[in-house]
Amino acid sequence: MVSIKYENIGVAYGDFIVVENFNLEIPHGTITTLLGPSGCGKTTVLRALAGFVEPFDGKVFIGDNDVTLLPPQKRNTAMIFQNYALWPHLSIFKNVEYGLKLRENAELAALNSPWFSRFLWVTKPCYFFLTKTHNQAMDYLKETKEEYYSKNQGALTGFKWYLWIGFRWFKAVLKGIDHFVREKKEQIDPKWNYRRKKVLDVLKLVHLEDQAFKNPTQLSGGQQQRIALCRSIVVEPDVLLCDEPLSNLDAKLRKELRTEIRSIIKSLGMTTVYVTHDQTEALAISDRIAVFNIGNIEQYGTPTEVFTDPHTLFVGQFIGISSTLNGKVVKPNTVELGGGEIVKLQVKTDIPVGEEVALVIRPENVSLNTQSNSPIEIEIHTIEYLGTEVKMTGKLKDGNILLLDVVEDAHEYAEMKVGTNLTVYINPAEIFVFVGEDRVY
Ligand code: ATP
Repeated sequence: MVSIKYENIGVAYGDFIVVENFNLEIPHGTITTLLGPSGCGKTTVLRALAGFVEPFDGKVFIGDNDVTLLPPQKRNTAMIFQNYALWPHLSIFKNVEYGLKLRENAELAALNSPWFSRFLWVTKPCYFFLTKTHNQAMDYLKETKEEYYSKNQGALTGFKWYLWIGFRWFKAVLKGIDHFVREKKEQIDPKWNYRRKKVLDVLKLVHLEDQAFKNPTQLSGGQQQRIALCRSIVVEPDVLLCDEPLSNLDAKLRKELRTEIRSIIKSLGMTTVYVTHDQTEALAISDRIAVFNIGNIEQYGTPTEVFTDPHTLFVGQFIGISSTLNGKVVKPNTVELGGGEIVKLQVKTDIPVGEEVALVIRPENVSLNTQSNSPIEIEIHTIEYLGTEVKMTGKLKDGNILLLDVVEDAHEYAEMKVGTNLTVYINPAEIFVFVGEDRVY
């Protein structure tokens, strides 16, 4: 297990600088997610770690090793891509085995004698062709023999008998060649058994060992992504890199697979960097989340930290579902919204009267029953009945929208008409208050 460190790195594509003075430390054995909107630079940061792009400034460390200028194949990282990137012409087994073979290649090249390689090049196709022809011929002969027996009530005679013997002899020769090739292969490729065991072991982890000899096209998207995971972990990389691996899958499968991927990675204890723009996925899969916004990390912490204590307006709005209401401070801990509604706050900081603030409010913190300091009149805008709860949106006087989740008496509220006026209550302790981009506590 190794840690990762980005030290003041800058990465650009031509003149376009994507990240500059970028710093991040990822503890060993954790799943750390780079989370942010499309185009903010998450993949670029991941690629700098894999070695696919070279920073123009700064250093990247894997463990104690400065890998900034190392080529990708020397970094002992493995990557899972959004589009699986499996070889369509190779079986599942060979896809997973591929990485292992690649790492052993130098060793294999040394063991492989050129004459035997040439011998295999010639004999393998011949052997394949002859075996096929032989099997067909034997089938034909068997049929003819049975026909002959039933007609003549006797054994094969004459030409047919010689043909029969000829084929038997031919079969023995083929068996001999096969045996010789196999024996030689084992001498040349002594790690074959080791590789076979490793591949089948990782396929077992994702319960796909019985699909080993199918081609990727015969598997579903979810199964293909499981194979992509196997192919990455089979080489026991120091660092596993995941670039939006679940984006191509449907919602149900994404949910299932993220739980499965997390438990496999955690059982192996691999340091993992995971890129996604899906905040739910990030919250579910990560030990730590770095929330990105245009080449910068806005906040870095555990999923509960970034969810319950957003440090910036961007994080408050990006993580979780929320409404943002803008207003002005009219007296300590009191804000007047655009339509004149008064909202009570509970912050320790003295925000000057007249200061513009943004209030980020989660729907679960808006109540219909628990009366608090901030009753607000809304006009029901939409109602969505989900069985156990009702998701509502309400219009304020200035046209702003407030989201609320109704769990208690959900069936009753589901029957309400759009356009009805309601009084809702916002708990002051649950409001995130921002002046400009910064959180006020
Ligand atoms: P997404 O979630 O959509 O993949 P991202 O956060 O991973 O986005 P990056 O792929 O890192 O974003 O891209 C960051 C910026 O760099 C984007 O503005 C993108 O247009 C640009 N960019 C990415 N790759 C290249 C490239 N090969 N050449 C030029 N610009 C690029």
